[in-house]
Amino acid sequence: MNRPSHHPGDTLLIDYAGGALCEGASLAVATHMAFCPACRHAVTEMEAIGGALLDDLEPEPLSDGCLEALMARLDHERPAPCRPAVKPSPEKSRYPEPLRSYLRGRLDGEGQIGEGGWRFLQPGMRCMDLLSGPNGTTRLIRMKGGVGVPQHTHGGIELTVVLEGGFSDEFGAFLPGDLAIGDPSLVHRPVSDPEGCLCLATTIGGLKLTGPLGRWFNRFVKF
Ligand SMILES: [Zn+2]
Repeated sequence: MNRPSHHPGDTLLIDYAGGALCEGASLAVATHMAFCPACRHAVTEMEAIGGALLDDLEPEPLSDGCLEALMARLDHERPAPCRPAVKPSPEKSRYPEPLRSYLRGRLDGEGQIGEGGWRFLQPGMRCMDLLSGPNGTTRLIRMKGGVGVPQHTHGGIELTVVLEGGFSDEFGAFLPGDLAIGDPSLVHRPVSDPEGCLCLATTIGGLKLTGPLGRWFNRFVKF
């Protein structure tokens, strides 16, 4: 398996290691890490440094009732898992852990997703929603070969991890394991490679399509 050449960068990895990312962004970073030994190693080092810093902190005396208040809060608030566990990707798996855990019930005995689970986006392009909430959406996107997404920019952050095949845009070629980062300063027009592209995309804050076709597309397709 080729090593990825597009990585999240230190800021995203530090936020991931510190549990500061929303679940969808964490899943995108963790899925990239399943393909990327270098980022797994970097996060392990960040966690070790964070643990050492915590060990160096002087303990503060707790106020009266602090423990009871914490236990009561834990009883009532059951936070969603924010940071998926990361395991190295099995060779040639298009759905490595932790992504695979989000596909329970959708994979057949051969690890494939049937045709029924996909939703039409545009000709040659289908998607499957995995997470949806106030922070944004996370979905699988499947494109046939040579399909172009209308030129668009981003209202927030978009993290796309290629799982199989690839795509290219004005900024480079993205292959399995590569993580592409879109933000409001980026305007691009991705086109899938001839063999098609399967990717995981987390969008936080929505997409804005900019070209004339994009404005038309925006009216009919809800990202
Ligand atoms: Zn990496």
